[in-house]
Amino acid sequence: MVGRPGAYARAALGNLTGMADTGALYAWIREFARLIEEHKDLLTELDSAIGDADHGSNLHRGMTAVVAALEKEPPETPADLFKRTGMTLVSTVGGASGPLYGTAFLRMSAAAGAGETLDGADLAKVLRAALEGVVARGKAQAGDKTMYDALAPAVLSLEESAAAGQPLAEALDAAVRAAEQGRESTIAMVARKGRASYLGERSAGHQDPGATSVTLLLVAASAALS
Ligand code: ADP
Ligand code: MG
Repeated sequence: MVGRPGAYARAALGNLTGMADTGALYAWIREFARLIEEHKDLLTELDSAIGDADHGSNLHRGMTAVVAALEKEPPETPADLFKRTGMTLVSTVGGASGPLYGTAFLRMSAAAGAGETLDGADLAKVLRAALEGVVARGKAQAGDKTMYDALAPAVLSLEESAAAGQPLAEALDAAVRAAEQGRESTIAMVARKGRASYLGERSAGHQDPGATSVTLLLVAASAALS
């Protein structure tokens, strides 16, 4: 998936030392699982303020199952890795986040295609597909106080970095900062989707749990792929 013409040609060139193969992407998923475990109490605490106090335990259960499934049979390609991650999340996580994250990873699998490696532009494309999956499944828009509000700015940042030909490490660093800013912006928002929306105006003043967990997905990418 390298050597595209046009705007992405420079990105591919700049990323010759910034390719992620299946092993690196597998490390990304394992690092995400580790960060979810490390932050599960925080995620549940955030969800207890505006939801039903299960976001940490939901994702922890799901990512533990993902790691176990992949350990049994290591992924062969990026598409295989993302597909099995998504399928395991759908089957082990209830609530809103199971189908949302599950759909995101299944869309990532489709976007990864048959490629063996992903460069910065590919990663932007894969995460754009994840965002589209979240929207297809949950109908969230910017400002609804959901995971969208952290994921969307990160995807945009990755696309801009890829177009500018930035190395993968720098692109991921910028994407993490964009996600963190998006996550912080959810504090002031009034929830319009999911359980938190039942609280109406009272949801303002609290950080969204899903925006927090999806920021960890970017942090994990930066740690594992840089
Ligand atoms: P549940 O709300 O069913 O208990 P979780 O607590 O695991 O599920 O996940 C809650 C998170 O899911 C929220 O913080 C929010 O980011 C995300 N979310 C909920 N509904 C939507 C939606 N329609 N679109 C995008 N994200 C959503
Ligand atoms: Mg919940």
